[in-house]
Amino acid sequence: MDIQQATTQITQATSLKALEDLRIHYLGQSGEVTKQLQALGQLPPEERKARGAELNQIKTQLQTVITAQKTKLEEAELAAQLAEQAVDVTLPASPHFVGRIHPLTAAMEEIAAALKTLGFVHAYGPEVETDDYNFTKLNLPAHHPARQDQDTFYLNPFNTDGHKYLLRTQTSNVQVRTLEAHQPPFRVMGIGRVYRRDYDLTHTPQFHQVEGMMVEKGTNFAHMKGVLTEFLRLFFGKSLKTRIRPHYFPFTEPSAEMDMECQACKGQGCRVCKHSGWVEILGCGMVHRNVLAVGGLKVDEHPGFAFGAGVERLAMLKYGVPDLRLFFESHAAFVQQYGKPPVAAS
Ligand SMILES: [Zn+2]
Repeated sequence: MDIQQATTQITQATSLKALEDLRIHYLGQSGEVTKQLQALGQLPPEERKARGAELNQIKTQLQTVITAQKTKLEEAELAAQLAEQAVDVTLPASPHFVGRIHPLTAAMEEIAAALKTLGFVHAYGPEVETDDYNFTKLNLPAHHPARQDQDTFYLNPFNTDGHKYLLRTQTSNVQVRTLEAHQPPFRVMGIGRVYRRDYDLTHTPQFHQVEGMMVEKGTNFAHMKGVLTEFLRLFFGKSLKTRIRPHYFPFTEPSAEMDMECQACKGQGCRVCKHSGWVEILGCGMVHRNVLAVGGLKVDEHPGFAFGAGVERLAMLKYGVPDLRLFFESHAAFVQQYGKPPVAAS
């Protein structure tokens, strides 16, 4: 065999598989060198020693060349693998989807923050309420005609405690519960879900209200207008023209509705404000003496005012949401467009 040719073949092997084939060809059990070593016995003794030494040298030489080539091929393979799996840190990252805060949640947080600035604290009223707290104690006795304005979801009257249960139609139950449990002075807010049997373009069976009540010695109608105007300025982030119109609510006397200048047309008149330049924003009034009496208070000693507004309405006006129903249809695109970016965790 030609040692020079074998060495050339080995150093030119381009894969580990080809190299292994060559190793088997020369040094394997039936390889060329192995066969010649096995054939040594047939040689005359005087030639055997020299030939044996020569063959062993060839074997060692080939093994050395094979090992060197194997190392070389393995290194090349590893380098190729590393090059293929390399990460280019200069590439732009793939887009990362970040959710947004639902506009209703955002509105409720912003309402609470504005009222907190004015000294109001959260107060609680349950969503499953009794007829007493939702109506009677708010100066709406049974058969009062105003009860019919609020189509009520009554719950199955299987209770044995004598109460008629319902889903609250207004957050005003918070007023009654506060008056019963606390002594003035207090400024409380109640923000949450309310329910009415109503569904059309501008009504949903479940919506949200914010309720506020301030009872303090010396409180009068002017304080109410001042606090509410400031609340709207804080919530909308700018000074707004407001006006107050007389209205009727059973639980306040006198009662009023507050309008603010239409933001869509700056008071010029448009479709949003039905061409009046004003949009109705909340109901308010001085707490009725019959409601104060629930807490054992007298209107001369502890006057107060209360107000209520629809959270959806405030959110629609602030964020420009065109349709009430969008709030409840769970479209991700709606939240992406009108929602608020989350505050980055710090
Ligand atoms: Zn307008």
